Amino acid sequence: MREPLSSRLLFPWTERRFTYAEYERFLDRLAGREVVPLREFAHGAGDLALRHDVDSRLDSALRLAEFEHARGLRATYFVLHTAPYWNDDDFVPRVRSIQELGHEVGFHNDLVTLERVHGGDARAALEKALARLRGAGIEVTGAAAHGSPWCHRLGFHNNYVFAGWDEPVPGFPSTEVPQKLDPAEFGLEYEAYHVPHDVYFSDSSFVHGRRAHPADLPLQPGKRTIVLVHPCHWDASVAAKARRLASKVARRTRARQPAPRR
Ligand SMILES: [Zn+2]
Repeated sequence: MREPLSSRLLFPWTERRFTYAEYERFLDRLAGREVVPLREFAHGAGDLALRHDVDSRLDSALRLAEFEHARGLRATYFVLHTAPYWNDDDFVPRVRSIQELGHEVGFHNDLVTLERVHGGDARAALEKALARLRGAGIEVTGAAAHGSPWCHRLGFHNNYVFAGWDEPVPGFPSTEVPQKLDPAEFGLEYEAYHVPHDVYFSDSSFVHGRRAHPADLPLQPGKRTIVLVHPCHWDASVAAKARRLASKVARRTRARQPAPRR
């Protein structure tokens, strides 16, 4: 189910359980599980993987990374080459610090959006993005497709760019891409949506109009489980959420005003 409009405006209230303290409580429940990065999970190790798609807020990703590290848990953070944070001066050192906490870093793939919406070249963009990360000592072998708003609007899936990971996904009929890329050529060994598992949870799904919360997931012993948590939905407090909403609204209002006359 897609996110209802009301919840987007009321998120400080409807998502009041998406605080760091609640995330830490969820992590404490994983004590009996063998939590491994997705790269290892894909090879059959462990019984639970924490996947993080870092869509917009690297600061929140770093917080989650520290909470996990404090409990000896290793997760996987997929960083997005079309996110504004990608161009920040401190992007690479911050991503490296996530790896230094024991976590895996992966490539969050928005290549079809780049090609179809922004006129970029998928091959060149992928080469450049991986070279930037790997050149800084960040080991990247996994990819995860990003669900950009453009995917829904234009009916494509970002995985359509990769040969072998490009089976048609229901609801995304626009499968044609200008070029297919071979993941192996780029040192990419697995794709997050294609990793076999028994149980899959995502906090981008909605239950009764509310964002699904990982603490509500019944952890079943023996079931290989992937838990997808988007750091951008989590904050220090409800007050911090309210401030984030206020600045979001202010940004939109400014964007709608006519340019000042000179
Ligand atoms: Zn994403």
